[in-house]
Amino acid sequence: MKARNFQSFISANVSCLLDPQLCPGCQHALHNRQIFCESCQQRLGTIRHPCHLCGLENQNTDDICAACLYDPPRWQRIIAPLQYQGLTRELIMQFKFSQSLHFASSLIQSIAHHFPGDSAKPDALLPIPLHHNRLMERGYNQAFEISRLLSRQTNIPVDTRTLFRVRDTEAQAGLTARGREKNILKAFSFHNRNHYRHVAVIDDIVTTGSTANEVTKTLHRAGVETVEIWSLARVCR
Ligand SMILES: [Zn+2]
Ligand SMILES: [Zn+2]
Repeated sequence: MKARNFQSFISANVSCLLDPQLCPGCQHALHNRQIFCESCQQRLGTIRHPCHLCGLENQNTDDICAACLYDPPRWQRIIAPLQYQGLTRELIMQFKFSQSLHFASSLIQSIAHHFPGDSAKPDALLPIPLHHNRLMERGYNQAFEISRLLSRQTNIPVDTRTLFRVRDTEAQAGLTARGREKNILKAFSFHNRNHYRHVAVIDDIVTTGSTANEVTKTLHRAGVETVEIWSLARVCR
């Protein structure tokens, strides 16, 4: 094979890999570099006018909803563009339990424009850590996988060496909001050896926000001023 032919062979095959032909939601053929077909794109359920603090649909014309003006979370900004329901929920579950990374990758590509471009970028992406017992059991941390994908989109480095889970907590699913807060209390430790002032904490979904609040508390104590919470989806009740 001549060098030029080889080059076009490689570029054709790489673009084929980067541009999958089937919609991850319905397996129908895609056109014009779509990530999802139009109908699945609708079914993902973007939160149209999210509050900048809680991420829920905001009835106010301001950035912050009435509930957050009254009782704000500890963090300074949340980006969780999708509602955790329907197709979004199905794809995240597939990603979590069968390690199908391409589902997370398609979701991130479809919401990439929600994450910051050049200005006001966080210094680092910090995936919510698993306790090492849980990591050994599961074999991977989905928050880390999402961080890697987001790092590719935003050119912000991932840091897995400063934030740790020091307590092996019970799973949060099935607990009440108050139970979650109690369960996660003092679960993290953070050493600000890189002198971060602005970070984004990464998780797959935000449910009540109790884990994110506890991590934020730990980061603020170590001198981080601005904590953003980035995730794929927000549980909207
Ligand atoms: Zn589709
Ligand atoms: Zn709010």
